[in-house]
Amino acid sequence: MASYKKNTRMCIACRQHADKSELARFVRTPVGEIVFDKSQKLEGRGVWVHNNAECIQKLKKKRLLAAHFHENVPDEVLRGLDER
Ligand SMILES: [Zn+2]
Repeated sequence: MASYKKNTRMCIACRQHADKSELARFVRTPVGEIVFDKSQKLEGRGVWVHNNAECIQKLKKKRLLAAHFHENVPDEVLRGLDER
């Protein structure tokens, strides 16, 4: 049996791998809406980013969500992060 791979994902801001618990997930839902996926279980194509000020800042500044989803993503999407 292959050894179980840890639940790590790459942060799109700094490109480091980290455990899911340290990351925030954004998903384009099947209806085409981009949302902050608190549960990390929503269906759809997702991207991951460190849930820290540095990477979130970078995400906003470089419009990385828009780049990854190939469409405009309003900053409001990131607001969900502040509620944690
Ligand atoms: Zn990061």
